[in-house]
Amino acid sequence: MNQFLTRRIFILIPIMSILKVIFKPLKVFASSFASDEEWKLSQEEWKNRLSPEVYYILREEGTERAFSSNLNNEKRKGTFHCAGCDLPLFSSDAKFDSGTGWPSFWEPIQGSVATKVDFKLIVPRTEYHCSRCGGHQGHVFNDGPRPTGKRYCNNGLALKFVLE
Ligand SMILES: [Zn+2]
Repeated sequence: MNQFLTRRIFILIPIMSILKVIFKPLKVFASSFASDEEWKLSQEEWKNRLSPEVYYILREEGTERAFSSNLNNEKRKGTFHCAGCDLPLFSSDAKFDSGTGWPSFWEPIQGSVATKVDFKLIVPRTEYHCSRCGGHQGHVFNDGPRPTGKRYCNNGLALKFVLE
């Protein structure tokens, strides 16, 4: 091996290990923690409870295809529950048509969701999840309608609609 190449490798090794340290925590915290002891389930337990599509969204912070959910057009009176633990998250009173292709709400039921910042698309976004089981629901933006001005952009697969 020539000297130049050896030197390059010596420079690369510390850079790679720094990158590893930076990017590893992102993987570890792929889903949020459950606040309720009863809902601190293992990956295996979640896999047994959920379909692969729902697992991908709730536990791996996946996103369903736009306009793929029936709940996008759900206009009846009722409540939208977490598909992971059945906690009521949104009332149909706070639902609006955002035109984005995902069920959208201007306000969650008080205390039902918690937020964190994610950098999955490089630009920081505010991720939100069920406050009880930690299951990922969607992202919240500041371009929603009055009175809150918020747009909770939710995966339909992460919700269960319960008719009033
Ligand atoms: Zn939940």
